[in-house]
Amino acid sequence: MSSISEIFGSMVFNDRVMRERLPKETYKALRKTMAEGKTLKPEVAGVVANAMKDWAIEKGATHYTHWFQPMTGITAEKHDSFISPTADGNVIMEFSGKELEKGEPDASSFPSGGLRATFEARGYTAWDPTSYAFIKEGTLCIPTVFCSYGGEALDKKTPLLRSMEAVNYQALRILKLFGNTQVRHVTTTVGAEQEYFLVDRDVFLKRKDLLYTGRTLFGTKPPKTQELDDHYFGSLKTRVKQYMKELNEELWKLGIMSKTEHNEAAPAQHELAPIYCNTNLATDHNQLIMDVMKKVAERCNMACLLHEKPFESVSGSGKHNNWSLSTDTGINLLEPGSSPHENAQFLLFLCAVIKAVDEHQDLLRISASSAGNDNRLGASEAPPAVISMFLGTELTEILEAIEKGSAYQGKEKVDMEIGVHTLPKFPRDNTDRNRTSPFAFTGNKFEFRMPGSNMSISCPNMILNTITADVLMEFADKLEAAEDFNAELNLLIRDTIKNHKRIIFNGNGYTDEWLDEAQKRGLLNLPTTPDALPHFIKEKNVELFAKHHIFTKAELHSRYEILLETYCKVVHIEANTMLEMAKKDIMPAVMKYIKFISETVASLKIALPEADRSAEEEILTKMTNSAGAFYKMTGKLESDISAIKEKNVPLQKACYLRDVIIKDMAELRQIADGMEEIMPSEYYPYPNYGDMLFSVI
Ligand code: ADP
Ligand code: MG
Repeated sequence: MSSISEIFGSMVFNDRVMRERLPKETYKALRKTMAEGKTLKPEVAGVVANAMKDWAIEKGATHYTHWFQPMTGITAEKHDSFISPTADGNVIMEFSGKELEKGEPDASSFPSGGLRATFEARGYTAWDPTSYAFIKEGTLCIPTVFCSYGGEALDKKTPLLRSMEAVNYQALRILKLFGNTQVRHVTTTVGAEQEYFLVDRDVFLKRKDLLYTGRTLFGTKPPKTQELDDHYFGSLKTRVKQYMKELNEELWKLGIMSKTEHNEAAPAQHELAPIYCNTNLATDHNQLIMDVMKKVAERCNMACLLHEKPFESVSGSGKHNNWSLSTDTGINLLEPGSSPHENAQFLLFLCAVIKAVDEHQDLLRISASSAGNDNRLGASEAPPAVISMFLGTELTEILEAIEKGSAYQGKEKVDMEIGVHTLPKFPRDNTDRNRTSPFAFTGNKFEFRMPGSNMSISCPNMILNTITADVLMEFADKLEAAEDFNAELNLLIRDTIKNHKRIIFNGNGYTDEWLDEAQKRGLLNLPTTPDALPHFIKEKNVELFAKHHIFTKAELHSRYEILLETYCKVVHIEANTMLEMAKKDIMPAVMKYIKFISETVASLKIALPEADRSAEEEILTKMTNSAGAFYKMTGKLESDISAIKEKNVPLQKACYLRDVIIKDMAELRQIADGMEEIMPSEYYPYPNYGDMLFSVI
């Protein structure tokens, strides 16, 4: 194998390649575009396209595609080959600036939430030069945004880029007020830790529920799952190790800095963490990571499960979104500094995030909402559906001292006058260890733990950027207008702590006491997706997104529709899958087993007195009773499913699915799982939980 430094980024048209292959002037023009978000001149685009094509062909690529992120949550690509006919009947390899910059996929099958109907039927893709092109499976992939002809966003990248622009603009205003004039750009940074399960492919293919829905809809708990905590950070099994090796190599080729890998809490559960980078790139990378994870698993005869809750009563999978703000001069704005001046700036940014999270709990909750994640949030191993912030004891005490204007009674006694005194050093490690908080400060960044493993991180980050930009804007307005900057700054920080400290909670977020306490504090508790989504289109949010040019009202409504529709489709498919499994496989298996026991009982009747047949008869009674209940419940689910089509209003339909269908599904599962416990494995039609969770050895 070649060395890591040789393979790293070998499939990326990155800065090094650009510098090598582009004429100096073209390179400079492209860098300027990338840094400032300007549009490229057509002749420059033509030169870049040609160099890209030559490079890609040398690497064995034959096709190119505009790689985009429609509202399906996964990526889309339509491949075109480079070949172009010549007059003499031959072909040449061509790729023009126009083809690089703009594409027109037949986009009518992508969700638009009514946007395309209202405006223009077709959509187009446009090159995002801030994310590098790369080669995947012989195809040159060009990261693009996807919009309608009227310019309305139909994808997940466009609003993210807009939000990065908004936060850049407002953060620069603040930095300027602190006398920071060298900084030209502020970007948000993200490192997304990805959790996943690996199961053997043969076992996976035998489970219709995994195949159709990504999670098990039936299945009783095996004798052992994670009770012994022996999986977490445990030594890696050979097959898993091989998988991670191949995965890393593929990711490194794509320039993705996959760094950490370890076993997670549940059996068969693992985690991958890349080194953080700017949010746009981190989002593209996370989409690629999920894609490559599945493909490499296939190659290793395994299946990679990215669903948030593939197995009941076993930990689910999340995506920990580590987020911070960073300047082009290399300063992390959420890193406490060493001078009073730096500290004041840090506290202001910290307070901005505190206020943003408290004021927009609804939006953060929405950014982690999906049918899949509803199974995980609030379950014992995942953050609750209530948003709160963990700051750690030291930092919380410092904020309390600031609020009261009193001395901080830490290791050294410090009178906290902002801008005059330095912050006491608080140990970073202590800030990092509350795993029950949905939103934790971990020393120099925030870790948002609510998003599900299967989601794009685009929406959570677009929300984080937007709500932070909004508060920074308010702060900048006040500070710019202030006669005495320091006095206004002190007031601003103090008021923010006072008004928003209810969002800070350092205790155990998994307990019921916390939910009661959260209610007393007036924090929002939105347990399910249909509870959360209607908040998206509230007037305050319409205004917020419009103010920062993230979404127009029409765009926002279209997102809302798409999210609701997706929720409904997912639950509907799960219900249909359950019905099929119940009718086609489970019920016939149950009948076979009942036939076997009743024949046993009948033959025993001849041979044994009643008292000696009690075990067999008891099993028979249990099974026939359960079979009856199962049959009845299957019928109820079926008729409730057929009533779905009568619900025409999307929200009403989503609520019906949640309140009626999901309840039916839970009841049906309970009966089936009860029967699975009694039935011999040879009669049960699917691999069981033990077979799945311990299939990779
Ligand atoms: P852990 O949370 O397991 O203790 P780390 O704190 O080292 O691990 O990092 C977790 C993730 O946070 C990694 O993906 C890392 O790259 C990312 N991260 C570290 N610093 C930042 C930052 N300033 N901005 C965004 N992400 C960051
Ligand atoms: Mg972490």
